Amino acid sequence: MKTEFSLAQLADPDIAEADKILRACVHCGFCTATCPTYVLLGDELDSPRGRIYLIKDMLEHDRPATADVVTHIDRCLSCLSCMTTCPSGVNYMHLVDHARVHIERTYRRPLLDRLRREVLARIMPDPQAFRLALILAVLGRPFAPLFDLVGAKRIAAMLHLAKAMPAGFAKAGAQTFAVGRERRGRVAILSGCATQVLKPSLNAAAIRLLNRHGIEVVLPEGEVCCGAIVHHLGREHESLAFVRRNIDAWTHEIEGRGLDAILVTASGCGTMIKDYGFLLRNDSAYATNAARVAALTQDISEYLMKLGLNQPAQDSGLVVAYQAACSLQHGQKVVSEPKALLAKAGFAVRDVPEGHLCCGSAGTYNILQPEIAGELRNRKAETIRSVRPDVVAAGNIGCIAQLEPAMDIPIAHTVELLDWAYGGPVPRGLEALAPHVHEVPEGRPIILVP
Ligand code: SF4
Ligand code: SF4
Repeated sequence: MKTEFSLAQLADPDIAEADKILRACVHCGFCTATCPTYVLLGDELDSPRGRIYLIKDMLEHDRPATADVVTHIDRCLSCLSCMTTCPSGVNYMHLVDHARVHIERTYRRPLLDRLRREVLARIMPDPQAFRLALILAVLGRPFAPLFDLVGAKRIAAMLHLAKAMPAGFAKAGAQTFAVGRERRGRVAILSGCATQVLKPSLNAAAIRLLNRHGIEVVLPEGEVCCGAIVHHLGREHESLAFVRRNIDAWTHEIEGRGLDAILVTASGCGTMIKDYGFLLRNDSAYATNAARVAALTQDISEYLMKLGLNQPAQDSGLVVAYQAACSLQHGQKVVSEPKALLAKAGFAVRDVPEGHLCCGSAGTYNILQPEIAGELRNRKAETIRSVRPDVVAAGNIGCIAQLEPAMDIPIAHTVELLDWAYGGPVPRGLEALAPHVHEVPEGRPIILVP
């Protein structure tokens, strides 16, 4: 694609980067077919190619964002399905991130929209505030149909999402989960702001599984939200403040007792942290450590696959529908590992048709764009049901929270199922499936339980 930025504009490294991305696009339109918003709305401006044109025009003319441009960019889920499809390697993620920052700087949103985004930016990255908000939402859930009735769809969406009282609160902080026998490695796990409130059992399962395989786990002091929530709202300064704090916390650990990897169980956060090197590439004080942190970061399934798990302690043959989170399959290109691990653990794994399409979660998208998110959720629930699973596995807390209220099939994180198969407790919500699980027959090696 031909671009017409001036030399003065190209002196800005962010514009130079946008120019490079735009030039890679050959406007073939292959990406439109796999874009969830184009599939639902059928409008070219709600496709990746259409958005790329809008962004190009806005940046080239250094124009403030218009209401029309904001509408189409806001409808983008940042699911990155377009990046998987694109044959030219267009980095749509960095382009739309840049556009969101430009929108935030140049466009004044209507008051209600500003308030909504302010509340989300303050509450969601803060586990204590998020937990309190969730408790209030659960108490208010019976009133959701009332908000539906008066057209307050975003409030109704928030209340519908609050399915149950948060299961507990595992406060992040300096903790080490040491191994009692010869240590094979040492990793940090991101506590995650939503994960520690919505599903503290998730990281507990990951820690048990890693400990059983001789891996010491640390929750470093000073770690905060990965920054993705505010990053996707275009709030660059707040986002980079989170990023720098995490880099400081992990660098302290890397240079102290050492880390083999920084593991993430919420793939949305993983995509963000793997991009820390890019985000701080022009910050001379942080660029090196940011790149080191990004290089050490892995999704838990990547790490477990490389580590090599032993034979499972329990066997079930339960049919698992694997819900591929966008941030994992498109953002991190982690596709086969979770399924291979589940299969090795004795589950019968089934792919979900239209697996490339987002479930509509996408960070705060299901609250800010409830109509599109609701349609995508229902479509995803249908495709999951079509493979007739006993249980659904997903690698991202966002997908779990989004799909749970729409599903009559239990849903768990991949790691919870693995922990169960390797001798851990039955994951919460899967108790009815427990009779299907039995210890492995004699003769098969069980060398896992510490
Ligand atoms: S598939 Fe890639 S090159 Fe083709 S229009 Fe989409 S972004 Fe551009
Ligand atoms: S990130 Fe997803 S929603 Fe946004 S343009 Fe790409 S495919 Fe469409």
